[in-house]
Amino acid sequence: MKAAIFEGPETLTVHTVADPECGPDDIIVKVADCGICGSDLHSYIEGAFVAPGQIMGHEFSGTVIEAGSRVEGVVVGDRVTAVPLTVCGRCPRCLEGSTHLCEVGLAESVAYGLPGAFAEYVRVPNVVRGGNVHVLPASVDDPSAALVEPLAVALHAAKLADPLPTDTCVVIGLGSIGINTVQMLKVMGAGRIIGIDVSPTRLEIARQFGADITINGRERDPLEAVTEITGVGAYGVGARADIVIEASGVPALLGQAISMTRAAGKLRIAALYEGEPPIPANQIVQKEMSVSGTFAYKGEFGQVIELLAAGRVQAAPVITHTFALDDIEQAFRTQLDKDISIKVQVAP
Ligand SMILES: [Zn+2]
Ligand SMILES: [Zn+2]
Repeated sequence: MKAAIFEGPETLTVHTVADPECGPDDIIVKVADCGICGSDLHSYIEGAFVAPGQIMGHEFSGTVIEAGSRVEGVVVGDRVTAVPLTVCGRCPRCLEGSTHLCEVGLAESVAYGLPGAFAEYVRVPNVVRGGNVHVLPASVDDPSAALVEPLAVALHAAKLADPLPTDTCVVIGLGSIGINTVQMLKVMGAGRIIGIDVSPTRLEIARQFGADITINGRERDPLEAVTEITGVGAYGVGARADIVIEASGVPALLGQAISMTRAAGKLRIAALYEGEPPIPANQIVQKEMSVSGTFAYKGEFGQVIELLAAGRVQAAPVITHTFALDDIEQAFRTQLDKDISIKVQVAP
């Protein structure tokens, strides 16, 4: 089969490699679509998370072409998407139910250790229907199904923020995670949502997805704009948003996110940063803020598929580009250009 191999920073080349072999607990999926994740860009630029030789790609959908003898409930011809993370089930984090924080699993996950889905075929190990493999209803098409993974990240972030109908929520950075978090906050009943980005295209889709107010960070200082909307924070410092979700990965905006959050408010960090951002740490203390990271998902895939099938959240508007596997370098270049792209997919 053809597959894109990560050779080192900024080098992805398409080679012919051996087809994956199906073990008794595995399925082989013919990949329909596979999205480029923000974390893939960190890998592509700096070689983070993956070693040379890796086939990347963990946001995928496709059709089962082979199912192992012990696989139950998933058959050849089923359209599926799959949780790429492999978990051990025995470490302290798995045993307390936080399987996404498994202390040993990631090294053996699809696209991290195991070959990923920037390829014609991908093997999914240890298949459990409704667990790591989800059979898709006809109403969820392949490109949308390849967005279930980032939508699950967004739903997990929105759940950790736990919005009330009286809450003003700010989402900073409207890339695939931020913009999907806007829809998930809306579905969860958040009161008022403010979206911040520098791209007019992203701001427009955020409004379609339920953002009540959008702020273009190129035209206005985000903290100033949020302060104007929410009022000045305690002791005249910062603003007073109830919930802030930082999804931009811009170091200076993490500091602003802390200042935007009201006393006893919630900041959820959904981005990754290059280097170590300087932050106004004393504000966290004085405001007794709740600050937490939000990483991946635990059990949200099925819920996302139900929301998509019911039309309560959308996938199609964020897919701005689709490239052939042979053009994967161009696909990554396009995903890096935030002015023109939101989610770029590769369709092998
Ligand atoms: Zn992802
Ligand atoms: Zn574990």
